Amino acid sequence: MRRSKLFTKTTKNLPADETSRNAQLLIQAGFIHKEMAGVYAYLPLGLRVIERIKAIVREEMNAIGGEELIMSSLQPKELWETTGRWDDEVVDVWFKSALKNGTEVGFGWSHEEAIVETMKQYVSSYKDLPAYAYQFQTKLRNELRAKSGIMRGREFVMKDMYSCSTDADQHEAFYQATIEAYNRVFERVGIGSDTYVTFASGGAFTQFSHEFQTICDAGEDIIYLHRGKNIAVNEEVSDDATLAKLGIARDELEKVKTAEVGNIFNFGTQKSEDMDFAFTNEQGEKQFVHLGSYGIGITRLMGVVAEKFADDKGLVWPLALAPCTVYLASLGTDAKVVAEADRLYDLLTDRGVSVLYDDRDVRPGQKFADAELMGIPYRVVVSEKTLAAGRFEFQPRVGGEPQQLTEDALLQNVVSPSQ
Ligand code: ATP
Ligand code: MG
Repeated sequence: MRRSKLFTKTTKNLPADETSRNAQLLIQAGFIHKEMAGVYAYLPLGLRVIERIKAIVREEMNAIGGEELIMSSLQPKELWETTGRWDDEVVDVWFKSALKNGTEVGFGWSHEEAIVETMKQYVSSYKDLPAYAYQFQTKLRNELRAKSGIMRGREFVMKDMYSCSTDADQHEAFYQATIEAYNRVFERVGIGSDTYVTFASGGAFTQFSHEFQTICDAGEDIIYLHRGKNIAVNEEVSDDATLAKLGIARDELEKVKTAEVGNIFNFGTQKSEDMDFAFTNEQGEKQFVHLGSYGIGITRLMGVVAEKFADDKGLVWPLALAPCTVYLASLGTDAKVVAEADRLYDLLTDRGVSVLYDDRDVRPGQKFADAELMGIPYRVVVSEKTLAAGRFEFQPRVGGEPQQLTEDALLQNVVSPSQ
């Protein structure tokens, strides 16, 4: 990727009407474009981050048996009436519209009803179960407030997965496998040590759902944390009865601000009963399917990572999410420098290193500032000085001074680095 070809530009100006740090930085660095409050376009660099998050989530969902599909944004009214969730009093985030013939449609804010309707076509016997389907999809929600940048959008990307099981045991095994898969996802994107499986409201039988809450000042949630026992409880369910049930005392808990990056639910058979989603068991008897639902906020996760790691110079991407591994800057227009930078660009690209090559004819200070603002993990400089010394200047985005490296040493640092 050459800067001279990239249509996006960086800006030093703080975007007006944007108070959240993640959106300010992402807009300044040219990763996203704000269309209106809570609605953002993902530009080439931002899209790369999204795709990298999705690739990690996809690997982990496939590893536990998930099958990917994609459902529709337009949702039929009749379907959601079967569970009483078409009603705006029950679901307050619906966007709705009408077809030309007057039929009402809603914009998918969730796809729970839709997946059940789909699965009903294919599941009739215990032999068809379990089934695990997931998608990455743009959800539309008429959120009351949209002040957290991409951490709370009116349009946002979610990974939503749904499990269909024969009974509580089969359900529980998958539910636990998902908790482990989610922990691996958050570990891989760099927020594992700050993300807690948290008791929250919702969910059949157990009375709880489980949220994945990441410590983050810009988050909108409050959790109570018992670090010793590794138990976290959302403020909304932190009453004395719940704490007693979990064997923790209020004065042992730390109150922390967090962002909910994931949420998983056990629905039991309630929704299947409402929608008549049943199968015949080995004895030939009719039984209702046991359902679970598992979400990860893909774009929120990007916002959380942006917020957590940014410093006073700009974004800081973990290697696993960075849009490019290397920011290659050629200084000046000397033909030899340009030829050497071109050669290095080709060499790194051939070795599978993703490079953002700043080949523009602009001041060095501007290139350095952009490399920092964009948060690319490694900066490599080619100049008359480095050329004369037969070296390249290498510097990590965080925690390291510039080093003058030979080509071999440079390659060792940037070809499949593990961070
Ligand atoms: P919240 O309590 O933050 O409104 P929710 O409980 O309504 O979220 P779910 O329906 O459980 O959200 O959605 C699954 C995941 O999608 C959430 O854990 C969160 O990471 C993400 N998410 C939910 N709403 C938004 C939003 N408006 N913008 C971006 N991500 C969102
Ligand atoms: Mg939730």
